[in-house]
Amino acid sequence: MNIHEYQAKELLRQYKVATPDGRVAHDAEEARQITKEYGGQSVVKAQIHAGGRGKGGGVKFATDPDKAAELFKAMLGMQLVTKQTGAEGRKVRTVFISDPVDIERELYLAFLVDRGSSRVTIMASTEGGMDIEEVAEKFPEKITKIAIDPALGLSGHQARTVAFGLGLSGDAFKKGVTFLMNLYRLFVEKDCSMVEINPLVVSKHGDVIALDAKIGFDDNALFRHPDVQAMRDLHEEAEEEVEASKFGLNFIKLDGNIGCMVNGAGLAMGTMDIIKYHGGSPANFLDVGGGASEEAVKNAFRIILQDPSVKGVLVNIFGGIMRCDIVANGVVNAAKEIGIKVPVVVRLEGTNVEEGKKILSESGLNLGVGQNLKDAAEKIVAAVGKA
Ligand code: GDP
Ligand code: MN
Repeated sequence: MNIHEYQAKELLRQYKVATPDGRVAHDAEEARQITKEYGGQSVVKAQIHAGGRGKGGGVKFATDPDKAAELFKAMLGMQLVTKQTGAEGRKVRTVFISDPVDIERELYLAFLVDRGSSRVTIMASTEGGMDIEEVAEKFPEKITKIAIDPALGLSGHQARTVAFGLGLSGDAFKKGVTFLMNLYRLFVEKDCSMVEINPLVVSKHGDVIALDAKIGFDDNALFRHPDVQAMRDLHEEAEEEVEASKFGLNFIKLDGNIGCMVNGAGLAMGTMDIIKYHGGSPANFLDVGGGASEEAVKNAFRIILQDPSVKGVLVNIFGGIMRCDIVANGVVNAAKEIGIKVPVVVRLEGTNVEEGKKILSESGLNLGVGQNLKDAAEKIVAAVGKA
């Protein structure tokens, strides 16, 4: 789960990580008022769960309070397009007013979970404002990377190595170390999966400040953080994913046009691979789970069929704990309820496979049958067309 910049900055403040004063404005008058409080100038920032807002017109400098009100009006409700949103962009529903900082240097800092080393890892670079992927490609020597031992936590020595790598010195060096220590505590205590501070800035006054903040959380740990759950913004999540999560389905929307209904995450990955291998493109990842009910299967199939970008569906079930007849009934019930307008190919194997096939063939629905996974993938790609 991700949160907005203004929410991330509230968390930073709780953990005494330096960040500029800033508040959400609810109307233009409030934007004007806040800007007055900040000495007559402010940065007006669109709140969406995507980066690159600056270049897309979602971060603007207000030179006086009237200008802040004007920028607020233009920003609220706009469809903001950045290189991370896709062409349709995201609607701006919240506008944040930030106290401007005089920047001396812009740096990059991220905490993430490195799966290779199974450790929380710091990535820091002197190239703030730039994408870390681009820095990694062009100037790998400018990145400081430190893996943190979970038993020991971030050591003073490691924090100093990062601060040194960022080129900090004197007072800023000390402030940088404190910043890192506090941010690490936030990361661990709140079960974050990623914290990106881009840019981290050294101000003209020598302070080390998070000018932007993106925080992502481990969904599997959300149950123990009601305060974090309360920050969830469903507007920022794909509608189908929100719907699927209500039924305990593991669903991720993708760009392709072949809907996939599969049980087991590994099988779902394998199914996506084989669709790609045969020239098609999956519209989603879906694991209906091991012991899903007929109702969950029905809802999964309904969610897939309702997606207008889905031009065909591949159902691939390996019955283990999951029984093929339950899947077949779920598919048939969903199909009868909303109708099937696209080709569907089903491949069933395992527990109760004969009953499952019987239910499908007696349903009167026009379903393709895959003899095996390869055959099923070929048939659905042939029916839908290559990507
Ligand atoms: P992003 O484009 O979505 O990553 O949004 P950011 O919050 O990172 O803002 C984009 C850029 O605006 C930053 O990299 C800064 O260069 C600039 N910016 C944002 N806030 C301030 C500020 O308070 N003072 C100054 N001078 N520049 C700012
Ligand atoms: Mn940024």
